[in-house]
Amino acid sequence: MIDPFGRAITYVRISVTDRCDFRCVYCMAENMTFVPKAELLTLEELDRLAGVFVELGVKRIRLTGGEPLVRRNLMWLVEQLGRHVREGRLQELTLTTNGSQLERFATDLHRFGVRRVNVSLDTLDAAKFEAITRWGKFGKVMAGIEAARAAGLAIKINCVALKGVNEDEFDRMIAWCGEQGFDLTLIETMPMGEIDGDRTEQYLPLSLVRARLEQRWTLEDIDYRTGGPARYVRVKETGGRLGFITPLTHNFCEACNRVRVTCTGTMYMCLGQEDKADLRAALRASEGNELVRRAILEGIARKPKGHDFVIDRRHNRPAVRRHMSVTGG
Ligand code: SAM
Ligand code: SF4
Repeated sequence: MIDPFGRAITYVRISVTDRCDFRCVYCMAENMTFVPKAELLTLEELDRLAGVFVELGVKRIRLTGGEPLVRRNLMWLVEQLGRHVREGRLQELTLTTNGSQLERFATDLHRFGVRRVNVSLDTLDAAKFEAITRWGKFGKVMAGIEAARAAGLAIKINCVALKGVNEDEFDRMIAWCGEQGFDLTLIETMPMGEIDGDRTEQYLPLSLVRARLEQRWTLEDIDYRTGGPARYVRVKETGGRLGFITPLTHNFCEACNRVRVTCTGTMYMCLGQEDKADLRAALRASEGNELVRRAILEGIARKPKGHDFVIDRRHNRPAVRRHMSVTGG
């Protein structure tokens, strides 16, 4: 699948639920209205849809949410999608998770073909962790990370840079990830969805963070890419990889290779734009996959050149009204 700007679309992120057992302050309001269950794609529909993407040349699938591991019976879907990996049609099946359920599921994930997980962890301080996630339990997540490692999963830690909250912790985080053998990616906050607080207060440009880190660490540019928008450096002192995702200070759209599908089967061709394609209607209109295939291709033919996020200081309105937990981060 090639989009109008010549980019090959080989990566799909699929949100399997918009629900979550955490309420991270930058992601959700404490009181959220979730999609009624009847509107969700069933696990069978998700499997069918993923199969069509694979037929169309998608090589990597990432399951996300909300918290993907709170979707009931998710392991069934992982097992089905794992077939595409085992039979060589898919290069990679991964997952982005808050880690709360990894203790329970790490072994199955590995057994069904997952080799790498991204775990979101913004702080190593238990009290701060509980303040940021509102409902999260730090010990549970650490135990989950340990279980993932024991199961043989490679781990990348995703850390959202929050001004005045965790900006004093990046050195510690780099050292810890270095010791543990985890990659680390720092992410700028993106203005998506209504939250309870003020986003301009959370926003911390990573250009500033990087300049500060360079006073303490030797950061060497490397070519490593995971198919995502992160730019990586090697931290000479730890040997670990450190990525930066900077949607606001640096536009990463030129090399965009992905689309996103929500848990209700809406495909967004760009994280930062409203245009979408309804794949659920196509899935439910007939048993065959021709309509789904056509709906995907028509969507890709409209994939925009890029997003244009701004944290609007005057209005403090989200640039995109839907939450990250809807589109899937
Ligand atoms: N619940 C899972 C988790 O937290 O890893 C998967 C979904 S979560 C929406 C995916 C990623 O998006 C997480 O790393 C989270 O920190 C990040 N995220 C959520 N809201 C964000 C925002 N407004 N700006 C930047 N990153 C955000
Ligand atoms: Fe849940 Fe992930 Fe959003 Fe936190 S970032 S509220 S864990 S979906």
